[in-house]
Amino acid sequence: ALSVITYELDQALGTDHYERFKKYLEYFQENDLVASAAQTDAKGDRLKRPHEQEDPDQYLRVIETRDDGIVVRGCKVSITNTPYADELIVLPCRYMGPEDKDYAVSFALPTDWDGVKLLTRPASFRKSKHMEFPAGNFGDAETFIIFDDVFVPNDRIFLNGNGDPRQTAYAGFLALMFAHYHRHSYTGCKPAITEVIASAAALVAEYNGIEKTSHVQDKLSHLIGTAELVFAAGESSAKHSEKAPSGTQVPDEILTNAGRRLAGEMIYDEYKILADLSG
Ligand SMILES: Cc1cc2nc3c(=O)[nH]c(=O)nc-3n(C[C@H](O)[C@H](O)[C@H](O)COP(=O)(O)OP(=O)(O)OC[C@H]3O[C@@H](n4cnc5c(N)ncnc54)[C@H](O)[C@@H]3O)c2cc1C
Repeated sequence: ALSVITYELDQALGTDHYERFKKYLEYFQENDLVASAAQTDAKGDRLKRPHEQEDPDQYLRVIETRDDGIVVRGCKVSITNTPYADELIVLPCRYMGPEDKDYAVSFALPTDWDGVKLLTRPASFRKSKHMEFPAGNFGDAETFIIFDDVFVPNDRIFLNGNGDPRQTAYAGFLALMFAHYHRHSYTGCKPAITEVIASAAALVAEYNGIEKTSHVQDKLSHLIGTAELVFAAGESSAKHSEKAPSGTQVPDEILTNAGRRLAGEMIYDEYKILADLSG
């Protein structure tokens, strides 16, 4: 998403964000890093825009632009596995109007950077038996990230409406483009969860001696069909992708959304089937 939007930003405004992003990407790839993507703000009153909130820190904002960088204040919430990641990539979560310019900000930082505080609650305490990885020991760690007046150097800033109000409109494009890639990646990873549920459902049906009955076979085929359709939507959206001016492929929007929506809606039916067959 950054490769698409920083390029468009530079083309329109004559800035140098795309070069910054490419240098950051090279650093990221050369060092084989992992990032946590922090988009979701606390948001407060959903019917109010960021600048209208009673508490100005409901959305992450820039409080100062200096010659060498910016200072940011606020938080991001429900961010997955940040304590396990090397880097934190911060993005806006919605469209911003001219008065929201301080909130139009995107940047990257190491997760242990000065002033970045991680409040984490691991969600599972079962140790992995067969594979060594941090989340296997501590569980999935959703994180509340506090930015306590944090300095971000220029080479790590990808959008700053505070320093240059013309950039504000690009917050919305970046928010939607990131969400688009996130939905697309979901069509790849979600079928694996369905397969785990389907396998557990098939196994418990076998334990209960009901695996050959028609209602069980119908339910299992429903699970398999969902996994395959979600994956097919993602694959098809990749095949119908288009090249953005920066050269990055952008998956087809309608197919991506169709697959992501199906996955999001069916997960509750999938748990229902597993609970039903488990007795
Ligand atoms: C397990 C998990 C992992 C996550 N991981 C990440 C992550 O790694 N990175 C990240 O950035 N985020 C992450 N998130 C956050 C996730 O992206 C958000 O929860 C999601 O976008 C919804 O935002 P929200 O929780 O603020 O709810 P909202 O979008 O505010 O929705 C709450 C309700 O309010 C309604 N609503 C909202 N606005 C309006 C309005 N203007 N008018 C009328 N109704 C409205 C909605 O329709 C909904 O019914 C994660 C969330 C979960 C549960």
